Amino acid sequence: MPHEVVGNLHMHTPYSDGEGYHAEIAAAAADAGLDFVAVTDHNVWVRGPQGYQQGVLVLVGEEVHNPRRWPQVNHLLVYGAEAEMSQCAADPQRLIDAVRERGGLAFIAHPYDYALKFMHEPGIPWVDWDVAGYHGLEIWNYMSEFKTRLPNKLLAAWYARRPHLAIRGPFKATLNLWDQLLAAGERVTGFGNADAHATPFLMGPFKQVIFPYAYLFRCVNTHLLIEEMFTGNVAHDSAQVYQALATGRGWVGYDLIGSTRGFRFTARSASEVAGLGGEIRRVGAVNFEVETPLPATIQVVKAGRGPIVQVKNKRGLRFTSVEAGAYRVEAYRHGRGWIFSNPIYVL
Ligand SMILES: [Zn+2]
Ligand SMILES: [Zn+2]
Repeated sequence: MPHEVVGNLHMHTPYSDGEGYHAEIAAAAADAGLDFVAVTDHNVWVRGPQGYQQGVLVLVGEEVHNPRRWPQVNHLLVYGAEAEMSQCAADPQRLIDAVRERGGLAFIAHPYDYALKFMHEPGIPWVDWDVAGYHGLEIWNYMSEFKTRLPNKLLAAWYARRPHLAIRGPFKATLNLWDQLLAAGERVTGFGNADAHATPFLMGPFKQVIFPYAYLFRCVNTHLLIEEMFTGNVAHDSAQVYQALATGRGWVGYDLIGSTRGFRFTARSASEVAGLGGEIRRVGAVNFEVETPLPATIQVVKAGRGPIVQVKNKRGLRFTSVEAGAYRVEAYRHGRGWIFSNPIYVL
């Protein structure tokens, strides 16, 4: 039986443009009930602070981009390379290859990211789509979505105090892109993160941290099903996290509107069973089963075809298919995105 762990894999410290160091992040993660975090400073792999702090597994990755390019597009999240990778930033394909050569994982951060016009900030999406060999996409980036929902400066201050009213779910463009890749036969893991910086903003006369780490770690997280439970050994436990990430054994959960712990998606044929990220051969029909921890609007999406079944206000659904393809689950609560699973691949 796999074990569920919950974590967040995109955040910054003062080594780049964040405000809190690793110990503060670990304390916030413990407070939010996370099992692990991965700190990803811009263009610096911070050697040293990897390990258990406050009972939370703290991993150190890196968010790499080419700072000499304007706008500063193409952010790549790197995990498990255990070395500085920013020297390869000028050539995204060389960067991805170098990460793989070191046994690391490469995830495209905020594939779509939009300009914040009233702040004169350009969007920083991924633009070089001719690359190959990356492991996954950040299908939901909390801070990237938040800024996109702000229509003007006045409402920005209003929403900053009520961010839950701004957050709706992953960008449709990102989900469409993911489905295109899956439908073309690629195996691409989707994950979701805070992109936390804990930056203080000037709100009129007050300086205030509007997105503290502990708040963001209760929002968009990545849930993983690991094969062997954490033992406290950092090498063992990080390998469990990276294996689950590489193979897509997990989902993105917006835990603020209801914990997504306990979500399940399985497929059964006459002789085989597959879970998230798994594959199953058709022997006649394949029976799918979805279970959610709370009632929700649940739909199964077949990559390239869109939603093929939907139920409302239910804690699960079953359906049968005879077609090959990648099947993934989306669940919504109160009109907001809640669960976005990785696919099961029917061969
Ligand atoms: Zn970024
Ligand atoms: Zn970032």
